[in-house]
Amino acid sequence: MLKNILSRLIKKADEKPETNPVPAHYRYQINADECRGCDRCKKICKVGAISGERRKVYVIDEEKCIKCGTCMKWCKYKAIQRLDFV
Ligand code: SF4
Ligand code: SF4
Repeated sequence: MLKNILSRLIKKADEKPETNPVPAHYRYQINADECRGCDRCKKICKVGAISGERRKVYVIDEEKCIKCGTCMKWCKYKAIQRLDFV
């Protein structure tokens, strides 16, 4: 019984999604005029999509970003915005 459940779970985990699970209709962007280079967003991004040097403008790598929105919530200078494609 347990073996069957585990085998089904493993099979499901191996299946490739038919479509990219990351939404394509929006993205996150750091506003160069507002970013203070505090490093907060870089530390909080769990996929390492944000790079930059302290006190300079940080950038989001769109290829790595999974669009979770966490960085936007954590930026105390409101420098990160969500851009919707219409
Ligand atoms: S948290 Fe905000 S101000 Fe700080 S580096 Fe990131 S975008 Fe810039
Ligand atoms: S939206 Fe999420 S994955 Fe993308 S840069 Fe911000 S914290 Fe990282």
